[in-house]
Amino acid sequence: MRIDIISPLPSLFDSFFSTSILHRAIKKNIVKIKIHDLRDYSLNKHKKIDDYSYGGGAGMVLKIEPIARCISVLKKQRKYDAIIYMSPDGKLLNQKKCNELSQKKNIIILCGRYKGVDQRVRDIFIDQEISIGNYVLSGGEIPALVLCDSIIRLIPRVMNNESSALFDSFQDDLIAPPVYTRPEKWNGHMVPSILLSGDDKKITEWNEKKSIKLTKKRK
Ligand code: SAH
Repeated sequence: MRIDIISPLPSLFDSFFSTSILHRAIKKNIVKIKIHDLRDYSLNKHKKIDDYSYGGGAGMVLKIEPIARCISVLKKQRKYDAIIYMSPDGKLLNQKKCNELSQKKNIIILCGRYKGVDQRVRDIFIDQEISIGNYVLSGGEIPALVLCDSIIRLIPRVMNNESSALFDSFQDDLIAPPVYTRPEKWNGHMVPSILLSGDDKKITEWNEKKSIKLTKKRK
């Protein structure tokens, strides 16, 4: 899979993609991530990428030309399955969407900033708008990272124990059961005895029961 991220603040991605599971996925060549600095696509001598909004109002708007230039360059190089704009008024991200996107080959993610992007960018170039929640952040970089993390971990061979992503909350509309690790007893608080029993069948039943109970309680 290849992900091209277009951003006005590309350095925000550095630490995230150089550590953790995402780093491993990149090193294993399972995913290629290319960050494009929007300023590199500005023809303005000051590398300007934003301007005042027509009709007034506070805040700047990302201009169409640099974004159009960047997307056109990329589209000439390969075919994209999805061109996504991260936006608070987009479709709320969920696990189903993550599963779907994790099976794509090439995607572009556009990060907005300030008041957002010129509406014509959305009308002309974007085919999916995704929100990570009903609140507003200052830029699309954190939402893009949320999207990348949630889809990359689903790609086969990315996780060490591949099956573990399948048992995460939401994969089957159920919340994952509680998990424990050593020590067995901490300040008088015990790990549920069934998990120490070694009886796989009983443990599976216990996990299922807990999942159903938690889902009923929280959903
Ligand atoms: N004026 C816009 C908000 C702009 S926030 C509005 O009221 O809708 C600046 C940028 O941050 C957006 O262009 C978008 O790319 C990103 N962003 C902010 N909140 C987001 C969210 N909840 N989900 C996805 N992207 C978000």
